[in-house]
Amino acid sequence: MKKTAAQLIAACKGTAKKVLAYGTYFATFRPAKKNGKWMRRPCSEELFYDAMTFDINNTCNLRCRFCFNDFENKAFYMTEAVYRKILALFPMIRPVKRQGAGILFSCLYEPSIAPDFLKFLKLLPRTGRKNVFFTSNFSRSMTEEEIRTILSANIRHVNLSVETLRPERYHEICASVQFDRFYRNLEKIALVNAKWRPGRHRAKLYCITMVLKENRDELSAIGKFCAEKLRAARHEFRTPYISAAANHGDWNMGQLMNEDECSQVRRELMALRVPLVLDIHSKDELFAGAAAPANRTSITPTTERTWLRACIEEKLAEMRFCMDKEFLFLRFHPSGLYTCAMAKEETSIASMEDSFGFFRDKLKELYQRRAEAFLAPDALLETFDTAAPRELPTDITLYGMRETPVYLLLEGFFQSPGDSEDFLLFATATGKNGKKQLFLALKQPCPEWVSRPKGLYSFALCIDWNKIARPLTDLAFYIADSKSLSPLYGYQYPYGIL
Ligand code: SF4
Repeated sequence: MKKTAAQLIAACKGTAKKVLAYGTYFATFRPAKKNGKWMRRPCSEELFYDAMTFDINNTCNLRCRFCFNDFENKAFYMTEAVYRKILALFPMIRPVKRQGAGILFSCLYEPSIAPDFLKFLKLLPRTGRKNVFFTSNFSRSMTEEEIRTILSANIRHVNLSVETLRPERYHEICASVQFDRFYRNLEKIALVNAKWRPGRHRAKLYCITMVLKENRDELSAIGKFCAEKLRAARHEFRTPYISAAANHGDWNMGQLMNEDECSQVRRELMALRVPLVLDIHSKDELFAGAAAPANRTSITPTTERTWLRACIEEKLAEMRFCMDKEFLFLRFHPSGLYTCAMAKEETSIASMEDSFGFFRDKLKELYQRRAEAFLAPDALLETFDTAAPRELPTDITLYGMRETPVYLLLEGFFQSPGDSEDFLLFATATGKNGKKQLFLALKQPCPEWVSRPKGLYSFALCIDWNKIARPLTDLAFYIADSKSLSPLYGYQYPYGIL
């Protein structure tokens, strides 16, 4: 009987998920034909920033040797007026459950030493439980009540930095003699957890430990302590982000391990059987290729083709920039100065009257810039001969189809017909003016474990709604030689897109 039940469970395992996945896929088809084609409907979404990060101060009570911060700068503490303006932007941040990266209440410094820390936590809206998190070293003197306030705030999780559980080592790594204060806080966290009323919101506790030669021999003990005593929901072990030129460069370089040592650490940590994130890298891995010569050939625009190729190189760089995960990040300094799309802009939210309107317009601009990056140069469109190419032997599969008010984002994969990696992927569709429009797709090889057989590529393509006619019924893809820019293979997407 037991065996039959186990077999039944095994047979049904994952079925609900599969049914849901098929259901979602087929829901994108419209049971109606237009211009002789079945239509697919993209998933629709609003405009979002992918993440927001800010710091409520730019100071810290520790001086960890691996820290990349420069503490010589003037100290700033965020005012309540600036903080409230930032809170008003929360609805513009993509939710974590829709692939957003969240809202970092504090990301580079230590928030718990800011005078308004607890007050600011209490002002967070309830939606913060899904999106907001911060990192703290928990080395300021805290009462049990303060720790309860932190864990019950409207936040998703708190990252707790634990580099060591030994006083002398704490002094060595974090340059502080206040180990007892830190350890007492850990005990208070355990106590607060033990007294927590079931059903009451409690932020998850994630621990983060830097993997160094200095604390190598106690990493497993730290992982065990955090899981058992602090009930950490996750423990991340990682190599610090350092460079040879960073603070204490020599000390840091001496802390990095070789590949064998890293593998050994990974094995030991995995044996703990606790929820882990391992981001551990050897010295060779981190610094390999740092001194490698630049591989780019510079193109001198002597003929029209070389000039066009130079344009395409620039386009590809712009497309990579616009698709970078940092492109839609919004970052605020504690003074209110904001940084957006990896470029510093000397405007502060503090002096804005309509900050919500300003950042909504900025968001539209960023989406528009992304859409424009994918448009192929007009000069190429005139010579792009779509009649000549052979038919691509395999299908191009679209696995993602999302529309925003600015563009249609298509993601998919395809098998390249030859061995050469030196080709470009283009797409054409009829524009609003009745003429063909040409778009360049951003392709990249699939990782080896996915690519069986080799030569499988994934791609992203943004199609500006201002440029094409809807419904889109003649989407076609072309693989072109990257030197001659002539299309070699073509593929007509069999469905229309509403
Ligand atoms: S706790 Fe964080 S911010 Fe403070 S010194 Fe250490 S690494 Fe830097």
